[in-house]
Amino acid sequence: MNQLAFALGALGGVVCASIALVLVWRLRPQSRRWRERDTTQQDAFEQWPTSALVVDVSTHQIVSGNPAMTRSVGYTFAELCALHLSDVLTCEGVDAGGLLEQLQSATLRSPVEMHQHCKDGSVRNVEGTCHRMTLGTREVVALGVHDVTVRRRAESKLLEKQQQLDHLAHHDHLTGLPNRLHLAASLPGLIDEAQISGSMLAVLFLDLDRFKHINDSRGHDTGDKLLKTVAQRVRATVRSHDLVVRMGGDEFVVILRDVNGTATVSDTSARITQALSAPMVVDGRTLVTTVSIGVSLYPRDGSDMGELLRHADTAMYQAKDKGRNNFQMFSPAMDKRLKERIAIESSLRTALQSRQLEVHYQPIVEIETQHVVALEALLRWKHPSHGYVRPERFVPIAEEAGLIVPIGEFVLQRTLEDMTQWRQSGGQLVPVAINVSAVQLQRSNLAEAISRLTKQYGLEPAMLQVELTESAVFERRETRAREASQDAVGRLRELGVHIAIDDFGTGYSSLSYLKRWRVDTLKIDRSFVRDLVTDMSDLAIVSAIIAMARHLHIKVVAEGIEGWPQLEKVRQLGCTYAQGFLFARPMPADKCLAYLSGQPLDLTERLPVLDLESTGSGEQPRALRA
Ligand code: C2E
Ligand code: MG
Ligand code: MG
Repeated sequence: MNQLAFALGALGGVVCASIALVLVWRLRPQSRRWRERDTTQQDAFEQWPTSALVVDVSTHQIVSGNPAMTRSVGYTFAELCALHLSDVLTCEGVDAGGLLEQLQSATLRSPVEMHQHCKDGSVRNVEGTCHRMTLGTREVVALGVHDVTVRRRAESKLLEKQQQLDHLAHHDHLTGLPNRLHLAASLPGLIDEAQISGSMLAVLFLDLDRFKHINDSRGHDTGDKLLKTVAQRVRATVRSHDLVVRMGGDEFVVILRDVNGTATVSDTSARITQALSAPMVVDGRTLVTTVSIGVSLYPRDGSDMGELLRHADTAMYQAKDKGRNNFQMFSPAMDKRLKERIAIESSLRTALQSRQLEVHYQPIVEIETQHVVALEALLRWKHPSHGYVRPERFVPIAEEAGLIVPIGEFVLQRTLEDMTQWRQSGGQLVPVAINVSAVQLQRSNLAEAISRLTKQYGLEPAMLQVELTESAVFERRETRAREASQDAVGRLRELGVHIAIDDFGTGYSSLSYLKRWRVDTLKIDRSFVRDLVTDMSDLAIVSAIIAMARHLHIKVVAEGIEGWPQLEKVRQLGCTYAQGFLFARPMPADKCLAYLSGQPLDLTERLPVLDLESTGSGEQPRALRA
């Protein structure tokens, strides 16, 4: 557009100069010699399409005008010559003298913008340049005037269009909220403002909890409507000068300005979580969504946009980790954890390929006979520089990164390999339990893999047991995820695979799903077993679990038995099976043949041990006589 304006302006300037010469030519005293040539000039002048005017420099009186000028203003030549410059051309803020001065310093690149006043009262937008010259004793300027009304109209339309495009580019078309580009353009300015005024700024990173599920199960249309409602609710919760941005998908950012303390930020975050957790009616259906919010503060948590957004995002992940539907303020410790997490994730990928993963086995024992009735396969990561890394540190990360699926396949395959090896070495096989996380259960076709691999290794699927944690699988709020798990469990049962619930007691421990999912075994979490002998409430919980399981004909394993008193207590309460360091620590496959002799474990020399696993120092027991 600017180029066009320049080109037209330049053209106008050239035309103006030419016309001025023609006009001046007309004003010069006529001589015979030139008469014939003058006729040609006269014709050219009459037909010249661009308006031109000659004005006396000292009186501002119009001296002459060409037909294009008289046509444009609607005056006759005589009427025009009776007028002053200011009757026909004006420029905002300057008088006729000022205008002439401006015209004389105007260049082809920047002509003077003026208003042309016509006889009929209309006003047109024109541009002009001029040439000053002396005609005899008279100082005049010859003006070339170019009508730019149409161009101005086109320019203003274009500007309007540009503004519309600009709006579109900086706003989200679904919710109408400013978008990521807008944030990138405005946040640095808001930070500068806060710095100058010495106030705080809060960056809230919002991510809807399990929105993907709503989108997948109810369709994108419903998902879109939900996002609109979310946008409206967030907007209505904050002040008008705060900024609410949709970053994309189910992510929003809120910038709170002029924050006077962390309490205000907490209040606002709490109000947003509350506003969003209220049910929303979309297409006649009531939907419930919640939000996880991470908060970073300027200047405390970062000095620029990138840092503030990154830290708010980190805090948001912390909110997700803490069970969603809450908000977390950023702290430097979170950043450290995140970096550690990223490091673990990347080295875990290498671990899978470079054979750093191993499977160890721990016996599950029948208390009365001390026979090994099963083994539990436990994943081990032997890091080249950190030694053994505990599954608790890396399994959740592997789940989040989706790595748990290939890792789970590795555990299954290695377990079956070890079982065939034990069998070949004369061991009497017992069922082996593998731990399966919710992600793995839903994403991989576990039943198909078990069916295929057991066939390949010549083993019965019934020789496998799958351990699922109750919180991860049974208490999923989304029906879809629960249904997916239920289907997967159903297929495993059809194959003859046994189902155990791990860490029982740490979740809701609901009777209804125990019946519905027809589980075979419950494993009482070791946190209840640890202080069983001294803690009355742990004792009450464990005895209730055992009584309930008996009633439902479900086997019970007490996990984490480290001492004789614990073992005696669970036995008295009616628990049939136990697992723990008292019997054996998890061992590599080549040390497990001893458990598969068909003979009871000899515990006469067994010493209960302290938990050395947590030090990651390997499997050496430490004496602590019971
Ligand atoms: P879990 O399935 O409940 O496994 C039992 C954990 O208790 C094991 O920890 C075991 O070493 C430990 N343990 C056994 N007896 C005692 C005892 O007497 N005292 C104490 N203090 N601890 C005892 P580990 O091997 O560190 O595994 C931790 C968790 O990691 C497992 O808990 C399981 O949830 C998960 N995990 C382990 N292997 C896998 C796997 O292959 N896949 C998946 N998805 N998760 C796994
Ligand atoms: Mg387990
Ligand atoms: Mg457990």
